[in-house]
Amino acid sequence: MKLPLALLATTSGASAFTTVNNGPRSITELSASRQPIMAGNWKMNPTTEADALNLANGFCALLNEMADTCAMDDVEGCTEVVLFPPFPFISKVKDIVGKEGVTVGSQQVYYEDKGAFTGSVAASMVKSVGCEYVLCGHSERRALFSDSDVNINSKVKKVLEFGMKPILCVGETQDEYDLGITQEVCAMQVSKDLAGVSKKDMKDVVIAYEPVWAIGTGLVCEADAANKVHKFIRTVLAKMYDEEVAQSTRIQYGGSVTPESVDGLMAMSDIDGCLVGGASLFSDKFARICNFQ
Ligand code: PEP
Repeated sequence: MKLPLALLATTSGASAFTTVNNGPRSITELSASRQPIMAGNWKMNPTTEADALNLANGFCALLNEMADTCAMDDVEGCTEVVLFPPFPFISKVKDIVGKEGVTVGSQQVYYEDKGAFTGSVAASMVKSVGCEYVLCGHSERRALFSDSDVNINSKVKKVLEFGMKPILCVGETQDEYDLGITQEVCAMQVSKDLAGVSKKDMKDVVIAYEPVWAIGTGLVCEADAANKVHKFIRTVLAKMYDEEVAQSTRIQYGGSVTPESVDGLMAMSDIDGCLVGGASLFSDKFARICNFQ
């Protein structure tokens, strides 16, 4: 059984065309090429290896019952699923979930290659244990570990240099939301964090729009409102690159996604997947999210 691609909807500019290597492709074609991607960010959970492996096993059993997943190259009809376990559990979780076509990623890397950086983990290290994705710019890293846009930009480029794919998290805080500057914040973060990233490398970049006020609070952003921000982020990408990059880059929504909210979010034209924290710690909830309708 394969999951149907949920995102064949067109954007408002569907009649426009862009030129790529094989000739002109319509915006409709480009947006239809965006494979859905669901990611589970376990953060600093579960607290033991045994619990982590139980969670991975439980998730795989349910996912297998509900739907097939597949690797990114096999775009037709699949949802890509990525798990971000804590560092010590990555290898063993990969052994379990890899059999179901689920990939693993790293929640963080340092931008230096190696050396006297106690407590840090290099891109080469997570690559060597099989990580395909790395979270960059998560709001908890920005707020609690002083990750600046300059550092995030270095990390994004390091992840790409090592042949992995960054999921770049951007989004406004509650104060910024109240001030009505969501677009300004997202534009600033996207442009600074992707500075110097080539158009060619953009095919490996996923963006996660994560309003900080929605993360871990139970306050999921309205699907329509999130979709507007996603559309806006595409206008920023169009200015930085071109319409092809804008329409083909996958943009996830993150912030208190649950089985109850996922279908509405995924029905939106410009939401290509979800980055899920709390609900990814429950195998049944995350399996349902991956099997969105
Ligand atoms: C996150 O950590 O990126 C996140 C979206 O968490 P939650 O789903 O718990 O809000």
